[in-house]
Amino acid sequence: MIAWSGEAVEHRLLFAERHLSRDIRLAYPDPRPDDWACGILRARSRQDRRGQPLWRMLNVRRQWLAMLGGLCQVCGMTGRDPLTGRVWWVITETAFRAMSRDSGLTNAPPTCLACIPESLAHCPRLRKSSAVYTVTRAEPVGVLADTFTPGPEGTAIHTGHNVYVGFDEFAMHTSCLALQLVVRLEGMRREPIS
Ligand SMILES: [Zn+2]
Repeated sequence: MIAWSGEAVEHRLLFAERHLSRDIRLAYPDPRPDDWACGILRARSRQDRRGQPLWRMLNVRRQWLAMLGGLCQVCGMTGRDPLTGRVWWVITETAFRAMSRDSGLTNAPPTCLACIPESLAHCPRLRKSSAVYTVTRAEPVGVLADTFTPGPEGTAIHTGHNVYVGFDEFAMHTSCLALQLVVRLEGMRREPIS
């Protein structure tokens, strides 16, 4: 589930008119139907696992698949506990924003129970500011994105990095490049593991 250094793809972007409508939106010069997810342009990445693994830098597509499927970010198997039906989640300060006592936003996929010890042991930063939870539900609510504004002759000028863009913020959808899917976790419960 981790990214590999050979998978990075350089993004050359422009603002182009949409087919059959006159509005312009951010696009690749050689657009493909699978460039867009939920109406937002998504960063491309290769799938061939070349180069060196980069811990904690998730491949874009694998991050989305893990988030949508509730899959473990370490082994790729389900993060759902077969006994309780709850999904195991390691919550780190840097990848979490609380919304209420038992809900919040995160861009980090689940970590299954079997992988939690390895995950905590291998990443000192994780151990320092992390806690283990299970959740009842994880609903996609938006993306972390790079944002752009139109420049001369259709060029795209970079204006922001890792900006949260909600799926209901339609006005921003045409000018951002989605890097990671963000889900809202519900029914969060702290588990006695550390
Ligand atoms: Zn796992």
